[in-house]
Amino acid sequence: MKKEAFSHGDLIEITTFEGIKKGTYMPSSEKFLTLKLESGYNIGISKKKIKSIKLISKYKKPKENLCNVSKKKNLKTITILHTGGTIASEVDYNTGAVTAKFTPEELICMFPELSNIANIESKLIRNMFSEDIRFAHYNILAKEIEKASKNSDGIIITHGTDTIGYTAAALSFILENLNIPVILVGAQRSSDRPSTDAAINLICASQFIAKSNFAEVAVCMHENMSDESCLILPGTRTRKCHSSRRDGFKAINSSPIAQVKTDGTINYINSSFSKTSNLNLKLKLIKENLKIGWIKSHPNMYSKELEVYKSFDGLLIEGTGLGHFPINSTDKETKEHSKMLNTIKALTKKIPVAMSTQAISGRINMNVYSTGRLLQEAGVIGNYSDMQPETAYIKLAWLLSNHKKEVKKLFTENLRGEISKRSLE
Ligand code: ASP
Repeated sequence: MKKEAFSHGDLIEITTFEGIKKGTYMPSSEKFLTLKLESGYNIGISKKKIKSIKLISKYKKPKENLCNVSKKKNLKTITILHTGGTIASEVDYNTGAVTAKFTPEELICMFPELSNIANIESKLIRNMFSEDIRFAHYNILAKEIEKASKNSDGIIITHGTDTIGYTAAALSFILENLNIPVILVGAQRSSDRPSTDAAINLICASQFIAKSNFAEVAVCMHENMSDESCLILPGTRTRKCHSSRRDGFKAINSSPIAQVKTDGTINYINSSFSKTSNLNLKLKLIKENLKIGWIKSHPNMYSKELEVYKSFDGLLIEGTGLGHFPINSTDKETKEHSKMLNTIKALTKKIPVAMSTQAISGRINMNVYSTGRLLQEAGVIGNYSDMQPETAYIKLAWLLSNHKKEVKKLFTENLRGEISKRSLE
């Protein structure tokens, strides 16, 4: 390939022996040229295979400081706290790196519609993937929410989608007497891709804060494949059910709170939520050094898998069906299961061991089969709960941090909408 007559960010057309490819020229390696296709995906093309390159248009650096952040008196104030993830990230065509945009100016430049919905403040808390989030980050966020709540009508937390449901659950428990909305927003596709969901999710969350009197923690994500509406999902009931679809977020054992359209129309689906108030927000943090285990029931288990939790502070079992675990020795092949039952008995003497189910929806009922009854006799708690395992895990940590003596009692009591007495279907 001859000396490059184009620079990073230029739109180019490459002819190879295999065909023609059009896209943005990205920082490349010695042997491969990286091209960002219109779909947003990057491909590497072996430089040896390139016959010719045509420049279509030069990269235009976006003009800076042209976005209007002046405050409007009649609008509410929303503070956006950034934690990272795909949302609000953009490719820098000079370096090829995905960078987070976090000043109010940058946000309004990226999503100009926001300035007509609310006065935007923002703060970068972290720029991390949500799979790396730990209990300590929940506390950092909660303290920032407390600070920001003093001069905001609502908070948006931009967050990676992988563990957005866990953070929503953690904040739901930590923020006691919450008096304003705290809405977590993610994006499955980054904002430099044509199919990005970042803008719509952020706009819907802002519209919801601007036009409702909701005062709980919730998640706002795409409702369906169209770009017209989002769902406000309950903080203790949201799960990422699809690894990449923009509408992959569902309310488990519950219904969404509302549908929000980008034009600000709100259709309430379940209005039994806490409203904005003058309550005094109280932080009930999660102890950062707690060790909570989580074990998923599966065929061919060994008691050794359970034994590691002897040094932990609590254990969540993600059982099968109505809340089961392999503890029945019915033939020589299942001898190991008696050991499992004994290990569970030893564990429950030291730490709370709670049950949840790996079934996607539904409630556990450990009275139906003898397995469930034996587990209860062995000291496993959690019967009748319809909490999804993610929320059960967070709740166990939160109870051990704040209500150590009442874990057994409170685990199956509804505190933040995480448990319902009656099942939906
Ligand atoms: N793994 C990323 C995260 O959860 C994906 C995303 O940002 O949506 O942070």
